[in-house]
Amino acid sequence: MSPHEAGDTPGGDAAGGDAHGRDATPRLKGQAAAKHPPGRAARLVAFVKGLAAQGRRAPPFWQRKTLAEMTSREWESLCDGCGRCCVVKLEDADTGRVHPTSVACRMLDLETCRCRHYRRRHALVPECLPLDAESLPRYGWLPATCAYRRVSEGRGLAWWHPLVSGDPETVVQAGVSVRGNVVSESAVHPDEPLDRYVVRWVDAADHPGGR
Ligand code: SF4
Ligand code: SF4
Repeated sequence: MSPHEAGDTPGGDAAGGDAHGRDATPRLKGQAAAKHPPGRAARLVAFVKGLAAQGRRAPPFWQRKTLAEMTSREWESLCDGCGRCCVVKLEDADTGRVHPTSVACRMLDLETCRCRHYRRRHALVPECLPLDAESLPRYGWLPATCAYRRVSEGRGLAWWHPLVSGDPETVVQAGVSVRGNVVSESAVHPDEPLDRYVVRWVDAADHPGGR
């Protein structure tokens, strides 16, 4: 998770020199060296070293692993928590096209947009489909913003993905989260036709600065 790693700071491990950037002693020795703050040149060297070290760091797991190679922890962390896959979907009997609605699964927490019973989701909601590297290609209805879809299509993660931004709220800020845009199916009368709830998800690409 590279965005969460603390970057090296200029002068972090610099050694020696006086306040004017000159070496006060020919070579720094033990305690004497520690008494002097690092000079400008030493700080610059340390800064460049820090940049080089950053460049040598391994890319984050979603860039160097396929979906099938990810650990379960990595796989779970890849979900951006948008909640878009947890809405009721209607399939057009003629075209086979699947349309999302603004009616969310009764198990979806409408504030966090996370499943309230994630571990027991398949037992509690039989229509809840398992998502893994093998089944992913069959789910053409997943939104284009879905992190799994993006990675499988070689598009990487967008700036608003929590693994990139370090902030789960950026999913909401980018207009990708369903928060505030859906009602729970438990609030919809069973006899009410759901086709009136069909929506077209706005992709983050439609937002200024979104990708
Ligand atoms: S659409 Fe994809 S990224 Fe969004 S909640 Fe579902 S699985 Fe996670
Ligand atoms: S059971 Fe949970 S994971 Fe499955 S669709 Fe409903 S809210 Fe989403």
